[in-house]
Amino acid sequence: MSVYHVLKVKRCLPEGCFYFKWHCRLLDKGTRCVKGYGHPGKNCNSCRYYFEDKLHKIPEIRLEPRAYREFQLELEEFEDWLSDNLGRRLAIQGRVNFSGPRLVKKIYPRHEKLYLRGYLANFSGCFLGRARLDDFVYLRLSPGAQERVRLAKGDELEFEAELRLDEGRLVLEHPRRFDFSRRGPEPFDPRRAEALVDLHSAAALDVQYERCINCERGRLVDVVERGIDSDRFLHRELYCLEGVTTPADCCYGALKKIAVED
Ligand code: SF4
Ligand code: SF4
Repeated sequence: MSVYHVLKVKRCLPEGCFYFKWHCRLLDKGTRCVKGYGHPGKNCNSCRYYFEDKLHKIPEIRLEPRAYREFQLELEEFEDWLSDNLGRRLAIQGRVNFSGPRLVKKIYPRHEKLYLRGYLANFSGCFLGRARLDDFVYLRLSPGAQERVRLAKGDELEFEAELRLDEGRLVLEHPRRFDFSRRGPEPFDPRRAEALVDLHSAAALDVQYERCINCERGRLVDVVERGIDSDRFLHRELYCLEGVTTPADCCYGALKKIAVED
């Protein structure tokens, strides 16, 4: 869970929060559920094998008091800067860290579905106007825009875009005036078909593994609930575009290294 989530979304500092963990006496012992469920859920309330634990979580500040005060001051400065710049068109300068399809998962009453919503690139540090930001900043691109500019990992460029805040992410939208000073070593393949293959092979991962977050085939997907008038953001889930479900056994990085050395 991110600092943003703890401080700004859940606001669980200092009291913390609690939640209920569902258990089934039968499934815990490796016995089958009387109704055929694979795990306890909201339909189990009236079942005699169901019980729940109330778990209280309290976040802890690991920083020294002085370092925490410095962090708070830095955060206030950042929020001032943000309120001055949100919604404005800014000149951006940076190096592309990742570029690939942008996926969104929609939850419907009876099913869920992954959609391709154009492309997403990110910068692990960049200049937004005159401010240098050493954090991830995301750029949303329509399929048409990506086919024109073919943004790829390693590209160094300047462009203009509008700054938005999306569930804790700094997002750049409606980019234009691209000016590349250097192109990355691997050009982006603009065939949308490749992105669609990604869409169908993508597999959800149960935990946000560090190696997958840093992998070019790992993708944080926005999960939204379909409402009558609009969609409601729920959370982000980590997906592997290679379809690997057990990252501990994954050899994608090693195979790619061998292919590059050949
Ligand atoms: S209904 Fe729920 S609590 Fe009851 S046996 Fe099935 S999984 Fe367990
Ligand atoms: S499972 Fe392997 S290929 Fe997939 S995101 Fe993780 S490290 Fe990358």
